[in-house]
Amino acid sequence: MIANVTAPPIPALVQQQRQFFNTGCTKPLDFRIAQLQKLKEAIVNYEDDIVKAVQADLGRPAFEGYFEMAAISEVSLALKKLKSWMKPQKVSTSIEQFPSSAWIQPEPLGVALIIGPWNYPFQLLISPLVGAIAAGNCAILKPSEQAPQTSAVVAKMIRSVFEPHYVAIVEGGVEVAQQLLEEKYDHIFFTGGTAIGRIVMAAAAKHLTPVTLELGGKSPCIVDTDIHLEHSARRIVWGKFLNAGQTCIAPDYLLVNRQIKKPLMSAIKQYLQEFYGPDPSLSPDYGRIVNTKHFERLTALLDSGEVVVGGQTNPDHRYIAPTILDEVSWDSPVMQEEIFGPILPVLEYDRLEDAIAAINNRPKPLALYLFSRSREIQEQVLASTSSGGVAINDTVMQVGIPKLPFGGVGESGMGRYHGKASFDTFSHFKSVLKKGLWFDFKWRYAPYTPDQLKQIKRIVGG
Ligand code: NAD
Repeated sequence: MIANVTAPPIPALVQQQRQFFNTGCTKPLDFRIAQLQKLKEAIVNYEDDIVKAVQADLGRPAFEGYFEMAAISEVSLALKKLKSWMKPQKVSTSIEQFPSSAWIQPEPLGVALIIGPWNYPFQLLISPLVGAIAAGNCAILKPSEQAPQTSAVVAKMIRSVFEPHYVAIVEGGVEVAQQLLEEKYDHIFFTGGTAIGRIVMAAAAKHLTPVTLELGGKSPCIVDTDIHLEHSARRIVWGKFLNAGQTCIAPDYLLVNRQIKKPLMSAIKQYLQEFYGPDPSLSPDYGRIVNTKHFERLTALLDSGEVVVGGQTNPDHRYIAPTILDEVSWDSPVMQEEIFGPILPVLEYDRLEDAIAAINNRPKPLALYLFSRSREIQEQVLASTSSGGVAINDTVMQVGIPKLPFGGVGESGMGRYHGKASFDTFSHFKSVLKKGLWFDFKWRYAPYTPDQLKQIKRIVGG
């Protein structure tokens, strides 16, 4: 393939990809494997540039920058498993179908559009691409304009490896996204906020295009009394303040049993100090808010309760200290929308049933966290709530298990990916029946006899 070819205008680009897809070139296992290998090499070659770009866009510490490299393990898994994922799966057939065989055969969908957000701007664009390539599709990527340095590096990387008629990248903001959404695709994979998810789904509906929507929401974190205090506090602080709270599955708020609240709050304070020092603005391990709009939105939320830790801000550096808010009610502004920043409101409960009812009264979250050693409570929460995923006695780490499909439910999204689920998302599972011609069972042909009537009753009756 010739690399570094500039992409044509959007409608022509989509048409070129469709033409290329129709040649059938993207379908063989060898082709897919070769492309995945090229992608993996490119990611490894661009690793430093990517980490630096993410640092520049988000003020993210290098350690957290390397989370973007999770895309490499996605490619490695696909390279290892693709042959078995692509294998048709045989299913049994009934005697009435004799002589026959039947199977489910995965096939690529065609041309996929992948739109990414800014918070993990590399990983959330490239991981879905791994699924699209593994499943044999062409793809157009639209990175977020809010992480411009990362967008530029990804564009350079993609253009150095793929021709635009196979995998293309179109940089730009809302207008470009809207232009892209006017075209017809075979799948749209969108990661971003719920409001834009609705716009994407409406645009997809015009062409009856299936969508995967990886959205956000307010992910609750329930804390029971039966916990290991230090480990729980440390895991909560890490998951919440990682990337300055700009993680889709960060615990959005704490729902704490009143009896454990005081010790938990002091343990959280202690670990905030331990992680980021007495002044987190000086810590090399604490991130910044992505842009002024989000900085202003978040600072306005600081009035939603009593600041017990943090609260300091600096607009010049878009810095907001890790903040714990007490005296917050369900009606407070901070409880109305996904926070997506370093502010952790704390609500209390006396009866677990009330905490569960409060969660169930609101849109289904992307993640739900429960800290409790009690098996009974773990089972009760699992059985009586619905969320995209759950972690018990940890936060965020569920995303790192490729065999656990990742996705939302209800307003937190639809569809899932990671590992084999990514291959499945970008595949159509075609059902195939193959009949033999050496024999022809007559039970279904007219003129129908009373015997056939009896037979059909038996067949449909199961
Ligand atoms: P966003 O919805 O503002 O933007 C996402 C993408 O949509 C960007 O590429 C943007 O250019 C594009 N876009 C913006 N306006 C558009 C429009 N009118 N029409 C079409 N496209 C448009 O999201 P964001 O601010 O980049 O990311 C934050 C949100 O994403 C949070 O809600 C977070 O929870 C969610 N998120 C979800 C996941 C997940 O895996 N479920 C991961 C990361 C972020």
